[in-house]
Amino acid sequence: MDSTSPVIYVVEPYGGSIRRHNPALPLIFWDDAAVTRGDGVFETLLIRDGHPANLRRHMERFQASARLLDLREPSADDWIDATRQAVEEWTARTGEDAKCVWTYTRGRESTGIPSAWITLSPINERVLRQRESGVSVMTSPRGFTIDTSLPGVDEATEGGSPEPAPWLTVGAKTLNYAANMAALRHARSRGFDDVIYIDPGTGRVLEGATSTVIAVRKERKLRTPVPGGEVLPGTTQAALFEYAERQGWRCRAKDMTVERLLDAESVWLVSSVRVATRVTAIDGHPLPAPANEAEVRELINAALGAE
Ligand code: PLP
Repeated sequence: MDSTSPVIYVVEPYGGSIRRHNPALPLIFWDDAAVTRGDGVFETLLIRDGHPANLRRHMERFQASARLLDLREPSADDWIDATRQAVEEWTARTGEDAKCVWTYTRGRESTGIPSAWITLSPINERVLRQRESGVSVMTSPRGFTIDTSLPGVDEATEGGSPEPAPWLTVGAKTLNYAANMAALRHARSRGFDDVIYIDPGTGRVLEGATSTVIAVRKERKLRTPVPGGEVLPGTTQAALFEYAERQGWRCRAKDMTVERLLDAESVWLVSSVRVATRVTAIDGHPLPAPANEAEVRELINAALGAE
């Protein structure tokens, strides 16, 4: 087995049994709702120095996502145990950091039993490169909007109330990422590295295609668009804000326009495996490197190890 071969563990969602799966063999049946409908939830975690980073926040969002989709809540003990086994195997074989994905689907139509598994694989070369080089982004409307005035949507975003508008699944990290991937392909075809979504009505900055936007402002201030509605609550952003506050930064979720990004000291896309990439240009307007680039990078790295 070469060192880039993934490690896969199947988590039996009702019985709790955990078994290793040979990555050379198929895993999912033709009638699995993940395949036929994109119906399920997932989490992507960073494995760093032999440990899952930010584990508690990932587990909380995973469980909230499952609740929002009316899936039985995944057992934290089973998933953490399976992750530990997979990480041990990966680390013994490669000694490298990794991308870990938890996937939990509504399962086979013929059995009604959910499917669930964990994969560990190498961190993508592009992600590693962009951590160093930064990214140029284009802004774009997402192309569809969620009506956040519908009753219950705001609460549902926090994983609290799946009642009033349950079909919207806002706040859930669902498998339905085809539109985000298409937006990224489009950006790359136009010479950009990534996308920041903007609300077309208000000009409000939402989020990256697969990341949270952070603006660093003078006098040690961090800002991020208010999570909820169309902005997935990010685990990296949450860890960063909690840690940075303790280090004397002033952190606040506050809606902002693209102009507020352009006059920030620096702008970052953060997410679990990418950790942090600095935005070097927005729609062709350059954002020069700030004097404190290394400090900000270090802050985000340290925040992920803070638990
Ligand atoms: N927003 C979207 C749409 C995402 O897909 C992601 C992560 O993949 C994030 C934000 C950042 O979330 P996290 O920091 O939990 O990885």
